[in-house]
Amino acid sequence: MKPVVAIDGPAAAGKGTLARRLAHALGLPYLDTGLLYRAVGRRVLDHGGNPADPAIAEAAARSLQPLDLERPDLRGPAADAAASSVAAIPGVRAALLTFQRDFAAASGAVLDGRDIGTVIFPDAPAKLFVTASLTERARRRWMELRAKGIETSIETVEGDMRQRDAKDAARLAAPLRAASDAFELDTTTMDADAAFNAALAFVRGRIENA
Ligand code: C5P
Repeated sequence: MKPVVAIDGPAAAGKGTLARRLAHALGLPYLDTGLLYRAVGRRVLDHGGNPADPAIAEAAARSLQPLDLERPDLRGPAADAAASSVAAIPGVRAALLTFQRDFAAASGAVLDGRDIGTVIFPDAPAKLFVTASLTERARRRWMELRAKGIETSIETVEGDMRQRDAKDAARLAAPLRAASDAFELDTTTMDADAAFNAALAFVRGRIENA
C-alpha cells in the first residue's frame, strides 16, 4: 500500500501545521480535507442557500471544482459554521469521499481532517489523533485571527469552537473520534517542534513496518 498518513482531531489542535511538516519530511502530497467542507459551505452561501439543507449542500459538493479550494474566504466564523453544517450531511460526505481517496492513489499522502483514520482510510498504516485543551486551542485560533487583523474576543472564539467540536463529535455521519489504532498526541503543552518530532518518529516506525 502507498504510505497514507491519517491525521484527525478537533479544531485548532495543530493538525494543519503538523501535517504540512510531515508531508514535507516524508516527500508526500498533503491535503487539508477541511478545505473541502469549507468550500462546499461557501458555495451554498454564495447562492443564498442554507448550509444545513441536504439537497442544496449535496449539489454543491457534487459540483465542487479544484479551484474552489483556493478561494480566499474559506476561513473565519461564517465559513467555520457553514463547513460544520454541510459536514453533518451524509450525501455531502459521500460526494467528497472519492476525491480524498483519489488524492492519495498515485503516491500516498498526508491528509488531515476528522474521519481520515476512521472512514476515508481505515487501513492507513499511520494514524494520529491530535488534541489540545479547549482553552489552548481557542488561544491559538485567537492569535491567528489577531495576526490577520480580525478583532474578536478569546471568549467568542472559545464559545464558537466548543459548539463546532460538539457538533462534529455528536453527528451520526462520520463523527469526530480517534481510530482505535491511532497514536494520540496531546499538544497542549508542546511547541510545534516537539509535536513534529514525536509524530515523525511514530509515523516513520509505522511506515517502515507496514
Ligand atoms: O479542519 P477544519 O476546521 O478546516 O474543518 C472545518 C469543518 O469541516 C469541521 O468543523 C468539520 O465539521 C468538517 N470536517 C469534517 N471532516 C473532515 C474535515 C473537516 O467533517 N475530514
